[in-house]
Amino acid sequence: MSTEDIIRRSIIESCRAMNASGLNQGTSGNISVRYGESMLISPSSIPYDEVTADMIASMPIAGERGAYDGPKVPSVEWPFHLDIMRSRPDVNAVVHTHAPFSTILAIARKPIPACHYMIAAFGGNDVRVADYARYGTQDLSDSVLRALEGRTACLMANHGMLACGDSLKKRCGARSNSKPSPSNIITAC
Ligand SMILES: [Zn+2]
Repeated sequence: MSTEDIIRRSIIESCRAMNASGLNQGTSGNISVRYGESMLISPSSIPYDEVTADMIASMPIAGERGAYDGPKVPSVEWPFHLDIMRSRPDVNAVVHTHAPFSTILAIARKPIPACHYMIAAFGGNDVRVADYARYGTQDLSDSVLRALEGRTACLMANHGMLACGDSLKKRCGARSNSKPSPSNIITAC
């Protein structure tokens, strides 16, 4: 199996794991992984149990914006995945979910303070909330990039969260780690 095939399969496995763990529901959420000069990203609106490796879209990172190869259109959230890959060479994987407790904080527009040692894993003393913008827009991508400055995770106002890093395995771990922290914060409030 080629490296690209392994990455495509790991994206599908991680998407399914997100749903199985309750961090995500239905076809929401999306994952991208850098592969050479391209970004491999989960397709739009297809149940993860039905996604096959060939359905993972491939988008040029530096080429024509929005161009893609594949039989299915990429996730509607491709703009912020692409812009993160373009502006953050330290990032090889981006995971976006509607994890329930993170989404509660995002709707309340409350950043996650340095109340737990795992917060440091995201690169600073808090996890910021990106300003609200409609899903799939350039405005959302711009606000996500601002919230991610010096960080590897952010909440997205009235929407969800994202985590990014040098590998998909690490980001899935970070995403899981962000699960107890928001729930603990809400309980503490
Ligand atoms: Zn979303």
